Amino acid sequence: MSQSVCILGVTGSIGRSTLKILQQHSDQYSVFAVTGFSRIKELSEICKQYRPKCVVVPSDKVDELQQLLAIHHIFDIEILTDEAGLITVSEHPDVDVVMAAIVGAAGLLPTLAAVKAGKRVLLANKEALVMSGDIMLQAAKDHHALLLPVDSEHNAIFQCLPQNYLQIQPNGEPQLGVKQVLLTASGGPFLNFSLEQLKTVTPAQACKHPNWSMGQKISVDSATLMNKGLELIEACHLFSIKEQFVTVVVHPQSIIHSMVQYVDGSTLAQMGNPDMCTPIAHALAWPERIQTHVPPLDLFVHSQLDFQAPDITRFPSLKLARHAMQAGGLAPSILNAANEIAVSAFLQQKIAFLEISQVVEHTLNHVQNGLADSIDTILQTDQLARQVASQRITQLGS
Ligand code: NAD
Ligand code: MG
Repeated sequence: MSQSVCILGVTGSIGRSTLKILQQHSDQYSVFAVTGFSRIKELSEICKQYRPKCVVVPSDKVDELQQLLAIHHIFDIEILTDEAGLITVSEHPDVDVVMAAIVGAAGLLPTLAAVKAGKRVLLANKEALVMSGDIMLQAAKDHHALLLPVDSEHNAIFQCLPQNYLQIQPNGEPQLGVKQVLLTASGGPFLNFSLEQLKTVTPAQACKHPNWSMGQKISVDSATLMNKGLELIEACHLFSIKEQFVTVVVHPQSIIHSMVQYVDGSTLAQMGNPDMCTPIAHALAWPERIQTHVPPLDLFVHSQLDFQAPDITRFPSLKLARHAMQAGGLAPSILNAANEIAVSAFLQQKIAFLEISQVVEHTLNHVQNGLADSIDTILQTDQLARQVASQRITQLGS
């Protein structure tokens, strides 16, 4: 029987790659709901092509969407709004699979709603897991949700781990013969830039990733290495291991998407051309495999694979994220909120590239850490950290 899919963040880079896979397998999957935040014209085109039952937009975008749909004589798609609408479609009884591809903290409640409704949740929205780690994983266990990693590194690690590793009882130590996880990083567009050069890099340069085509926020995160920091935290939660068992390895070609080392000396790697359609298809069909248009890896073309240690002097965000994970509790939420604000300020050219990590560090030092024992506490801390980060940005600009 056909599986019914809800795509949160359909107008984004992951959302559109997901549509590509669903289109290729339209006999097995149907699109039940899609959501968008801006780019309403694009959203209306998606509605025209995929004919979902529901679409979610911010309330101030309803008129625009209705008018665009009317041009195509589409009147039978239910339009829902705002966070309540996102939650309604995420937990809808007719939905089997939820692609969580909203960027940032805005994806937390809808993703959690999908988990609590026991869905197969394809997790791209790493910020949601960074913020809510233990709560999200406990909810997945309690409600028998299948939380499958779409982030290419975590999907690679999942593929290299023993089967059923996600079901083991967490205690922070790697289990079943696993020694450690090697999380690969491309190093981003500024891998070989000096500190002096990093002072003046622009948003356009930061958004031009050498190997991957992605949304703006994650592109900047890749340039600062905060993306790897968030992924380090994501890996600790997903695979129930302490941060000392996750080593970051810079691998500029992005052919190996991550590795798992075992106690017997084996290192397993998952390799492929850098295209998010592979991990999306893997998470969608797991434990089966489905076809994608991604060409098989040609090792005669990619004959050189390089590896190096990350430089935390030029890319301090990675160090901040590791410290936040060590500190635990609300620290990862504070880190994430400050980073979202700082990246947005950098994109608006209000702060310089190197000031992104300074804003994050300042916020971590000025917002009280505590137990992340409820979603309300996490969201309150997220708001507070945003205020502190914004104040710091104002100070930097004056
Ligand atoms: P994007 O910016 O291209 O798309 C983001 C989507 O979220 C859009 O559909 C947008 O409309 C929606 N959105 C933004 N703000 C929103 C809000 N406040 N409320 C509701 N919806 C909102 O981002 P992306 O590159 O597709 O990344 C999405 C998520 O996947 C991020 O968490 C990112 O870290 C993760 N991810 C992306 C990639 C990639 O290759 N792009 C790889 C791994 C993980
Ligand atoms: Mg990744």
